[in-house]
Amino acid sequence: MLKGKSAVVTGSTSGIGLGVARALAAQGCNVVLNGFGDPAEIERIRSEMARADGGRIIHHGADMTQPDEIEEMMGVAVKAFGGVDILCNNAGIQHTSPVDGFPPEKWNAIIAINLSSSFHTIRHALPHMKKKGWGRIINTASAHGLVASVNKAAYVSAKHGLIGLTKVVALETAGSGITCNAFCPGWVRTPLVETQIEARAKQLGLSIEEAARNLLSEKQPSQQFVQIDQIGQLVVFLCSDAAAQITGASISIDGGWTAQ
Ligand code: NAD
Repeated sequence: MLKGKSAVVTGSTSGIGLGVARALAAQGCNVVLNGFGDPAEIERIRSEMARADGGRIIHHGADMTQPDEIEEMMGVAVKAFGGVDILCNNAGIQHTSPVDGFPPEKWNAIIAINLSSSFHTIRHALPHMKKKGWGRIINTASAHGLVASVNKAAYVSAKHGLIGLTKVVALETAGSGITCNAFCPGWVRTPLVETQIEARAKQLGLSIEEAARNLLSEKQPSQQFVQIDQIGQLVVFLCSDAAAQITGASISIDGGWTAQ
């Protein structure tokens, strides 16, 4: 059903975004990968995905803090694949600090990457989706888009904002064949979370695995990490016809975190 659709997945050289890109490529989508990393490693990922799934896969290194680079990436996607049918806004970073010591430059970077970049990709993608009368916009929010934790002022603000943007875009596109949704993961064991596990291990004098269990026990009732593949399959479902009436939703995939 998704064969031949074109997808842009921001922040897809690692973690959740890479899993989402792999899941869409496995459905036969053409995919624009985005994100930073070792060029040889990115090329290995790109060519492996193209070989395995037959779709065309390209990488664009647009920095999500730079609106002009975002515009260029979206233009490249349209030129290469004739439009952007599926847009997954996933790039994100974290920084933890009490709010009165939070470095302003970290605040600005988190708001730019975790929130404003989605505004820019969406405004460039929508005209193409409207022309085709079909589109799927899927934003990676977080449990932190629904509830707060200490020391994450910028991240929690950006993710709450992203859920607000999701709702507005859903209303503005309702009935047009385009849907816009956010999903809200709990802990997923990616490099972004590994850094927090390492900090916790150091702070509490624990081994890495003890610190990982400690992190889960604080917030995630299932006591299990969300698997990247589970998120990939959720995104594929949101792209399906079965999900055509799901729009403006914030879907938790968090082992019970926000049920508490
Ligand atoms: P990750 O660090 O593994 O991946 C982040 C990706 O974003 C990488 O591809 C990186 O290159 C890219 N990126 C970072 N800065 C960028 C920039 N300026 N321009 C372009 N790309 C940039 O992290 P992850 O855990 O996979 O996080 C992906 C998304 O999932 C983020 O939005 C994060 O907030 C969200 N999230 C993660 C978790 C979790 O537990 N890991 C939970 C909830 C939400």
